[in-house]
Amino acid sequence: MYDSLQRILKKTEDDIRSQGLWKTERELQSPQGAEITVNGKRVLNFSANNYLGLANNPDVISAAKKALDRYGYGLSSVRFISGTQEQHRKLERTLAQYVGMDDAILYSSCFDANAGLFETLLAGDDAIISDELNHASIIDGVRLCKAERYRYKHHDMDDLENQLKAAQSKRIKLIVTDGVFSMDGEMAKLKDICDLADRYDAVVMVDDSHATGILGPNGRGSGEATGTMDRIDIVTSTFGKAFGGASGGFTAARQEIVDFLRQRSRPYLFSNSLAPVVVATTQYIVDHADTLKQAREQLMHNTEKFRSAMTSAGFTIRGNNHPIVPIMLGEATVAAAIAADLLNEGVFVIGFWYPVVPQGTARIRVQLSAAHTDEHVNKAIEAFTRIGKKHGLIQ
Ligand SMILES: *Cc1c(COP(=O)(O)O)cnc(C)c1O
Repeated sequence: MYDSLQRILKKTEDDIRSQGLWKTERELQSPQGAEITVNGKRVLNFSANNYLGLANNPDVISAAKKALDRYGYGLSSVRFISGTQEQHRKLERTLAQYVGMDDAILYSSCFDANAGLFETLLAGDDAIISDELNHASIIDGVRLCKAERYRYKHHDMDDLENQLKAAQSKRIKLIVTDGVFSMDGEMAKLKDICDLADRYDAVVMVDDSHATGILGPNGRGSGEATGTMDRIDIVTSTFGKAFGGASGGFTAARQEIVDFLRQRSRPYLFSNSLAPVVVATTQYIVDHADTLKQAREQLMHNTEKFRSAMTSAGFTIRGNNHPIVPIMLGEATVAAAIAADLLNEGVFVIGFWYPVVPQGTARIRVQLSAAHTDEHVNKAIEAFTRIGKKHGLIQ
């Protein structure tokens, strides 16, 4: 009998629709890239996490094709039964080295890495001290865990210290933060966080999904960018963004932590092995440091160009030199209207507003990619400027 459930769902849907918050998906008729086809129209894409432009890179695709022939399509097993190929372990060692950790463990996604972390390591007499704006997967992972929860105000180191004091009697204290906050393009204050961790005997965990491959001189992430790589104890991250964007994630950490996750982490134990083609292609990507370096330079060039041009044009933007560039617009209706106008001009961007971001801080989030050419970036700047003037946002 579906009737009552259906009635409730319909009613909830009406509520969501009446608030204008019902999400619809745009269907791409092309691969992911700097240019995509939407509704039969070629448009410039500034709303993917395809930071290094690898999602449709010909060398990456050919590595993936070779991998299919060599390793097969599926494994039909979890890792500890018959789902570990030599290449899974090899990639784990490579990733650990890449982010400066002892070892790493693969997951089907970073969401799973976060879901399988906290409850495995912590018990009721422990404490998690978490930035209030951390990613949903961290929040869900923390919910699964019996440790006491302490939330500190976003970026607020005084409040973090207060929470650490409040948690002082706990057995283990784990500070948890995104390396880069995805709505603002802002980096966590990792140096201050690590200093406080030292002072209050706390472990530090960073979810570096928006930083792995792109931040720091060698793309090793926000630890490298802030000089704290050897002070962070646990890093989780994704292959779903800079590293080709297919799927998969990992946790890299001190040896005992990874060993323990392999024994006990539920999404690792009870979910299928990462697909062989994803493992091999990720290995190919991480092994090609030169390609990554070139892509990173292009990405940073594009980022600096776009950020400085938008600031000169009079727009208010946020974040510190990250390819996520939020254009602050205030009201949801403004952000929606501008995103629609931009799409008409062939520039695909997405507006975000309450409840995704706080009231009155609606924005369009632009994401740069190494796949963008100077011409692409110029077109976006011109379109923003024209439409910004039309709406009276800039002069
Ligand atoms: C994207 C993202 C994730 C999810 O990664 P998936 O591999 O897609 O599950 C987790 N944490 C943060 C901070 C992210 O930005």
